[in-house]
Amino acid sequence: MNCDSCGRANRPFEARCTACGRRVQDEVSAHAWRRRWEATPPPLRAEVEREIEGDLRQAAAHDGWLRERRTATIALGAILLPLAALIGGLEAALLPLDALLGAVAAWRLHADRGGAKRGLAYFLATYAVHFLLVLRAGGGSPAADLIGFGAGALAACAVGWMAGAWLDERHVARTFA
Ligand SMILES: [Zn+2]
Repeated sequence: MNCDSCGRANRPFEARCTACGRRVQDEVSAHAWRRRWEATPPPLRAEVEREIEGDLRQAAAHDGWLRERRTATIALGAILLPLAALIGGLEAALLPLDALLGAVAAWRLHADRGGAKRGLAYFLATYAVHFLLVLRAGGGSPAADLIGFGAGALAACAVGWMAGAWLDERHVARTFA
């Protein structure tokens, strides 16, 4: 029973996620699962237990790995988003704000335990905020702005994708398996 919220594996009869406490199924079906679980032959039950314990160990290892890289991740976001924004055109006045936006995107991505698609979404969203600020400040022709926006947005997507993939559990599993 994988948790929708944190992705952790739970024993099939668990009504709430053992990692985050979020409800994974209602009490009635949890009860039905418990009866089925008790009727399951012990060797099969032990196999499922082993699988779940392996998942939990991997998740705990990933949490430790993430904690050690929290500061580095936020610093990297504060550097990479301004770089992506630079590809879209130099807005020197916005660089400190871009650094802050990048740090926030990286912090959120870290708190959500990584993921390439999530990283892409967070960095693209913060880049969109950057671009709205550029538009508000005025300057440049709309056509040039659009080309710059496209280039910067692509760069922000690439940065977010790579940061998310780097923080992802599967990356950690591949590296330390
Ligand atoms: Zn959970």
